[in-house]
Amino acid sequence: MDDFKQETLDPQDWDEMRRLGHRMVDDMMDYLLNIRARPVWQPIPQDIRNSFKSEVPMKPDSPENVYREFKGTILPHPMGNIHPRFWGWVIGTGTPLGALAEFLAATMNPNVGGGDQVAQLVELQVIDWCRQIFDFPENSSGILTSGGSMANFLAIAAARNTRAEFDIRRDGLHDAPRKMVMFASSETHSSVTKAAEQLGLGRNGLVTIRVNDDFQIDLADLKAKYQSAVEAGNYPFCVVGNAGTVNTGAFDDLVALADFCSETGLWFHVDGAFGALARLVPEKAGLVSGMERADSLAFDLHKWMYMPIEVGCALIRREPDHRKAFSLTPEYLAHARGGIAASEMWMSDYGLQLSRSFRALKVWMSIKEHGLEKYARMIKKNCDQMQYLAQLVRAQPRLELLSPVELNIVCFRYVIAGWSDKELNTLNEDILIQLQERGLAAPSSTTLNGKYAIRAANVNHRSLHSDFDFLVQQVVCIGDSMTGENLTTS
Ligand SMILES: *Cc1c(COP(=O)(O)O)cnc(C)c1O
Repeated sequence: MDDFKQETLDPQDWDEMRRLGHRMVDDMMDYLLNIRARPVWQPIPQDIRNSFKSEVPMKPDSPENVYREFKGTILPHPMGNIHPRFWGWVIGTGTPLGALAEFLAATMNPNVGGGDQVAQLVELQVIDWCRQIFDFPENSSGILTSGGSMANFLAIAAARNTRAEFDIRRDGLHDAPRKMVMFASSETHSSVTKAAEQLGLGRNGLVTIRVNDDFQIDLADLKAKYQSAVEAGNYPFCVVGNAGTVNTGAFDDLVALADFCSETGLWFHVDGAFGALARLVPEKAGLVSGMERADSLAFDLHKWMYMPIEVGCALIRREPDHRKAFSLTPEYLAHARGGIAASEMWMSDYGLQLSRSFRALKVWMSIKEHGLEKYARMIKKNCDQMQYLAQLVRAQPRLELLSPVELNIVCFRYVIAGWSDKELNTLNEDILIQLQERGLAAPSSTTLNGKYAIRAANVNHRSLHSDFDFLVQQVVCIGDSMTGENLTTS
């Protein structure tokens, strides 16, 4: 067959594709530049919802048309997390260069499962930077993951596999001589529970420890539950410490947990999804002291390092623990004497995925672009903004602060004297829905000791102090108009 007539998926007209690409870059830069003028979020109209229920396309359309449809139906209805007034859950913002790095990575499109290729060197470089940031030893190892959930999963799998008293990779948990149990506080993120479930430990294998009034793990309860587990003939193998809980941003006493783990021989894992990064800010670094003694650490780069989703990282203190937990080399992946397969090091030996994206590139480019000192300033700015918000809440008689502000999370609610918690819970939920549906601001919510809280978590490099003035004004204004209270307006 005539080569010329054979199809590929490359464009027939490269110049046209090039022009379209340039236009996309221009449009996206304008979009980011003008993001503040847009609503944070808006409900998706029914006709747009319906447009995503079509039949699978059988015939081609032009890239132009496909892009036009993207601009019409997709681009105007984002989650909102790149907006300066988005503080929902803990979701980062991304950056312009981060977005462009995603394009570069997708263009090279390597499979970073292994092999002698530069993408793997970039990932190893990035992991080594993370190791330096968190003061882990030189012979520790790590892997970039989709996020904190997968980083927690991999680290807890390494803990389980390393500490099992038998060949758990061969036998599974069927023949376990003793029931393996781990410990974490009631404020621990659901991804740790999911990991315990999926790793065969079960939810009952994850023993929940009480928290104190500051939402930190209660050490006396930990010691008591550890003792009962031993007396019951179980095998305790791991403690999870929190560096920044998802509800309130609380930090467990990581020094005490590290001490407890060295006394008992338990694996010490830290979930530092966003809070681990407090280490970059000298005034806050004390919160995470003890974290550098962990056997494993999970954290995100797409939260408080502001990188495009997805990217997180698991660091494991001793490289062999990490490799032995996951390495499995069938013949078709044999490492060769030369050529592409010659690499000693295969990232796929350190996790579950074989095909892996080049997510390291956006990390490498972003850290070079800004330098660590600037990240430290951004993180400090976010903390200062939340102290500022807490101060506004305290100064406003209509509002009540519901938890101490340790770092970057503020939980508060609108209150009226004489209303029950139940009534206030409904009212505050209504206020939050209004804030979001009118596109004004996007905190999320949580419930603390039975009280519904409007919860703002700040990992947003675009927020300005005035955005928090606006938030407080709007909450009071919406609350007043819903309850007919118009005494306070500012
Ligand atoms: C966000 C978060 C996670 C999960 O991380 P993902 O990146 O969303 O998978 C785990 N723990 C804490 C404390 C978190 O805030």
